[in-house]
Amino acid sequence: MKLIPIRNILLLLCAISMLAACTPADDVLPSPSPSASPTDTATLTRTPTPEPTPTPTPLPLNGQQTQYVIDATINYYNRFITVTSQATYTNKTTIPIDEIVFIVYPTIFQNAIFIRSVSLDDGRAITNYRWESHRMIIPLAVPLGPGERITVIHDFELYMPDRTGVFGQTARQLLLSYWYPTIPPFDEKEGWLAYEFSLVNSRFVGEHQVFEAADFDVTVTFTDRGENMQIAAGALPRREADSYRFFLPLARTFVMAISDSYEIITREVNGIQIKGFSFPEVVDSSQVAVDLAEKALTLYAEIFGSYEREVLSVVQADMDINMEFDGLILIQSSFYWLYRDPPRSDLHIIIPHEVAHQWFFSLVGNNQPMEPWLDESIATYAESLFYERYFPEDLDWWWQTRVYSHLPSGTIDTSIYLTGGVPEYFNRVYRRGALFYNDLRELMGDEAFFNFLRDYTQTHRYEIATGEDFYNTLKQHTDADLSPIFGTYFTAPPGTP
Ligand SMILES: [Zn+2]
Repeated sequence: MKLIPIRNILLLLCAISMLAACTPADDVLPSPSPSASPTDTATLTRTPTPEPTPTPTPLPLNGQQTQYVIDATINYYNRFITVTSQATYTNKTTIPIDEIVFIVYPTIFQNAIFIRSVSLDDGRAITNYRWESHRMIIPLAVPLGPGERITVIHDFELYMPDRTGVFGQTARQLLLSYWYPTIPPFDEKEGWLAYEFSLVNSRFVGEHQVFEAADFDVTVTFTDRGENMQIAAGALPRREADSYRFFLPLARTFVMAISDSYEIITREVNGIQIKGFSFPEVVDSSQVAVDLAEKALTLYAEIFGSYEREVLSVVQADMDINMEFDGLILIQSSFYWLYRDPPRSDLHIIIPHEVAHQWFFSLVGNNQPMEPWLDESIATYAESLFYERYFPEDLDWWWQTRVYSHLPSGTIDTSIYLTGGVPEYFNRVYRRGALFYNDLRELMGDEAFFNFLRDYTQTHRYEIATGEDFYNTLKQHTDADLSPIFGTYFTAPPGTP
């Protein structure tokens, strides 16, 4: 291992302590949502969904994924947005559902949202909803039977909070994540997978939402100076009169970063556009970011299976965290400003991490609050695979910097509601998570290990995979005794009763 100047080490330690999207918490209890009984005042009805037509290849979610049709009118310079969001939800379970839950994330921030109305698609108003934290619960007079569907329309206004975060704004950028009411997955045993957020010392720990794959049809219109605006998203815009329209199929989120001053770099690789969005003064770093995203996309497609979207947007974001979404990653501004010493840079570490989430989060979902290791551990280990492939001489440096220097300990199967907050969360889920994968690979051998990774990814496409799914797929690829490794890294190893 090469010696690193102390200055660099300090910079790296500072930067790395801020890494990753995903933040941690203390003693907050998870509150799997709503089991409250339905009120009997609702008069909601729904349209029965016809029996699905059998097809030779079954569609993901039997073609029953939630359909979001969202129309947003954005007054960029006043940071004011009016939105109509229509969600058509199909009961994909075998049991009736007696209330619908929407996660309305903007309500977490004071006065960030005003809900003008909630209605059915026939125009009837829904007024009997209630709130549980940031969740809107809509009771149904007649339960939604298996295969039946319902459409709910939210009309609302957003007053973008003046904060640096995935939902927020700065003087030169709007970041719109979690900005429309979202329907979480419904589990036949657990009910709605809707949890409380984990907040410690004013920092969110990890991500508290669970997302099903859904289809998005989003139209954006600007009230002022639309010709100056650039929209970074997980899909390419279609121009329609004065509007921009986006179609994003089988995605868990639809996120936009909007600015009137982006410089955009576009590169086409195997039919996929990699687009770098940055502010003009750091366009050289943006070029590096696009290079790294291309390398990561190429490597991970080889290992996990192809990347299925038309675009990957790599966006400089005025935040102090990094975050993955479907077809779009947000990278904190300081990594662009302070870019130096390649390949020992934060961009080199974090861009591969967020790109890996296109497979583990976007393609294969998981219960992020309760089983965050399922996406974060592999995304962290994927950083090492990136160095191993492209910068093998710096692989040891990566392990030292990213993992060993933090002296991580503990098991990886924690929820986001752990004692110790963000630092402990990173130590266990990210750093110990990477070590778990490393040990697993050593035990199984490369061939079985990589066959397993690909099988797990492809088998659980568009699903919400669990630790049990992980274990069951793993067992098909090795006869090795897994109990020592699982005993080391798990408090409650999957596969044990
Ligand atoms: Zn991550």
